[in-house]
Amino acid sequence: MSRRRSVRLRITAVATAGTLAVLLGLALLSSRMIGPLLVDSADDELRPALDTAVAAVSAGAEVRPVSPNFRTRVLDTAGAPADGAAAPELTPSDIRTLKAGVPVLRLSDSPPARWLGTVATAPDGAQRLVVVGTGLAGYDAARGAALRWLITAAVIAAAATALATWSAVRSAMRPVGRLRAAAARLGAGKRLPLPESRELRALAAAMNDLLARRDEAADRLRRFTGDAAHELRSPVASIRVQAEVAVAHPDPELAQEVLADVARESQRLSALVDGLLTLARSDAGELPAASAVDLSVAAADAAVRCAVADGPAIRVHAPPGSCWVYAAPSEVDLVLDNLLRNAVRHARARVVLTVLTAGRTARVVVDDDGHGIAEEHRAKVFDRFYRVQDDRARSSGGTGLGLALVAEVVRRRGGAVRVGESPEGGARFQVTWRTASV
Ligand code: ADP
Repeated sequence: MSRRRSVRLRITAVATAGTLAVLLGLALLSSRMIGPLLVDSADDELRPALDTAVAAVSAGAEVRPVSPNFRTRVLDTAGAPADGAAAPELTPSDIRTLKAGVPVLRLSDSPPARWLGTVATAPDGAQRLVVVGTGLAGYDAARGAALRWLITAAVIAAAATALATWSAVRSAMRPVGRLRAAAARLGAGKRLPLPESRELRALAAAMNDLLARRDEAADRLRRFTGDAAHELRSPVASIRVQAEVAVAHPDPELAQEVLADVARESQRLSALVDGLLTLARSDAGELPAASAVDLSVAAADAAVRCAVADGPAIRVHAPPGSCWVYAAPSEVDLVLDNLLRNAVRHARARVVLTVLTAGRTARVVVDDDGHGIAEEHRAKVFDRFYRVQDDRARSSGGTGLGLALVAEVVRRRGGAVRVGESPEGGARFQVTWRTASV
């Protein structure tokens, strides 16, 4: 519930409550300090009067009141009047305190009274308790009035804080409203205006970055969908045309040829769909379970799988023993098959597959002695549907997805793939994987 309340309301409430609490605390503290201040000022006036009275008692002279506001009394040490007047309003405990030279504040009197006292020795050697007292007129009223005034001041100050905070937050939030309105009517490909304030500027810039990334991803997806549709259309169209020709000319010899063509196109279609599916799964974050895979064994198996009768020879160099990498077995096969099939397709006479390990990485190098890949195509061959020579790839059943798949499955396991030139002048593909401990 509280989460839905506006930021303005929350900030104002917190600021107001904070101000009110602090000022009320200060009001209470200040009103408590009024009492001691009044008592201190009474003490300042009582002390000289006490000194005068003590001097008179010590000298055996008559004790006269210094001021009509003060009561000056001479008592014996038990608190009984020694000056002939009525007993003062002091309890035995007050007498004991005054005898110890400690002042007494009698809040129960009306008005509250302050007494100072000390013991003096009369000329006849008798010990006398000399006390001087005064009524603190207005003591309670001053404290009450101070508290009332201070509380009123605290409430007014808190109300002023609420008003100031409310309007300050409202004006601070105005650019947020403008940003929201701009975002609501933002057209495709457009960016948010950058507000003046530093924080909102950073927010708008971050949102613009996000929009740019989104646009780029949407563009990529649009291109990919278009390319995929285009790639799927040609084998489907080819199968359809061949089938229509076969239906129009029911010749058994032609039918055989047409069926072979249809089978070839279907194979390409199925490879394309498999590739698209793998990429879509990977894009969606799906990752097959990884385990330790022996790269040396996988390389030897792939060489057997990819060898073509009358095609280039495939030689495998692997270190003695096993070379474990951390990946899914299907991923390792996909990488090796794609690199080897490409190499076999483009090599003149020889393909060399080398497996190497160094520290925590294992490397697979596939060299061929073909025409290689020109510098300007090297960065792009890993893009989806990128082909160096369109017709050649098409006629050989390529989908334009092979190297994109290789790059994707290697990258998601923290590996890397790059292309360069082999010692024979052909292409050299290098894949690195993290090694696995078994
Ligand atoms: P395809 O399945 O169409 O071959 P790939 O993604 O596997 O698609 O390859 C992308 C491009 O790189 C293709 O046009 C292909 O001709 C080129 N290529 C891949 N491997 C080699 C190689 N060993 N030598 C020369 N060109 C290669």
